[in-house]
Amino acid sequence: MPPTTFTNARVVLPTEVVSGSVVVAGGIIAAVGDVAAVGEVIDLGGRYLLPGFVEMHVHGGDGADFMDLTPEAFRTVARCHARHGTTTMTPTSTVGTFEQYRCFLEINADLAGTADGGARLVGGHLYGPYFRPEAKGCHPDAAFLSPEPGRDAELLAFAGRGLRTLTVAPELPGALALIRAARERGVLVTAGHTYATFAELRAGVEAGVRHVDHLFCAMSDRARLRQTQAFPMRAGVMEGTLSFDELTTEVIADGHHLDEGLLHFAFKLKGPDRLALVSDTMRAVDCPDGEYWFGATGSGERVRKRGGVGVTLDGAGLASAVVGLDHAVRLMASYPWADLPGVVRMASLTPARNLGLDAECGSIEVGKRADLVAMDGGFAVTDVFVGGVRIGR
Ligand SMILES: [Zn+2]
Repeated sequence: MPPTTFTNARVVLPTEVVSGSVVVAGGIIAAVGDVAAVGEVIDLGGRYLLPGFVEMHVHGGDGADFMDLTPEAFRTVARCHARHGTTTMTPTSTVGTFEQYRCFLEINADLAGTADGGARLVGGHLYGPYFRPEAKGCHPDAAFLSPEPGRDAELLAFAGRGLRTLTVAPELPGALALIRAARERGVLVTAGHTYATFAELRAGVEAGVRHVDHLFCAMSDRARLRQTQAFPMRAGVMEGTLSFDELTTEVIADGHHLDEGLLHFAFKLKGPDRLALVSDTMRAVDCPDGEYWFGATGSGERVRKRGGVGVTLDGAGLASAVVGLDHAVRLMASYPWADLPGVVRMASLTPARNLGLDAECGSIEVGKRADLVAMDGGFAVTDVFVGGVRIGR
């Protein structure tokens, strides 16, 4: 592949935006800034050039869900989100059976490191077996697994290839041993779908929890815990997440899950280096409004896409998101209190660091993979490159 030079770009670097060029050779970023063009020239005409987005929490898109458990479903989701600027992702499961989880991890292991015309898959986010049942949110009402060393070991055996991230409610019996075991194997352990108290979350952090799923959603806070104890009022997972510097977290910035106030609160308290943007989408991304399976076709939960978000069939509750990370970047960039490099870090370098991938992707820096997104002045995606290869749109 001959070198390519992107010229006339507003290049979004980790802490500044510079006008200039980016040279790509052999799929790697070779030069950035005021440099001479070599090879094929792509004139961006003043558009933005961003690092490709890194997605930690995504279930589906373009009609497919990872719980459909076929390699083709995985590729369909990866291609869908690549059109929205995502160049790296951890496929994320939903509530299912042990057999479904094992199959999910096997497919992740087979596809890890591949980018077949879409985002690069980097191992799975095992999400669902270790939820606190009362905090399941819109997930299917299947049997939850309790941590149990023998069975857990079968899933943890995928660490290093098929399993990159594991969600555990730290207050479950046996959770702390599972968290320690996962952490020892290099798995990112995240707390999610949990009604833990502050003390239970702290015990989880001491055991190795380093991230918290979708801040404000499916978690305990002072108000929820007060339902079972009037005083002293107690802090929960929300307050703990904002308190512990060891913890990173994420927000669903689709404009439906959280209002501007909560996004501002999260941005101010955690900051863009500890706060990632996630899409948390179900399969209805780029699909018309209507009813869909959330999770596996046939055994998941029926939900509805309506007005740019997923809702429960009775319309009373949220049921997952339906827009890509480009939407989250566009929304966050529209707020006067958020700086553009910070917003872009939340979609790229911060999640890359959380996943242990920041040496290879997450920012426009010499030596990193040429995962790049061109966006116009309104932050609409115009071109996407994964390892220097243009994604079809
Ligand atoms: Zn989710």
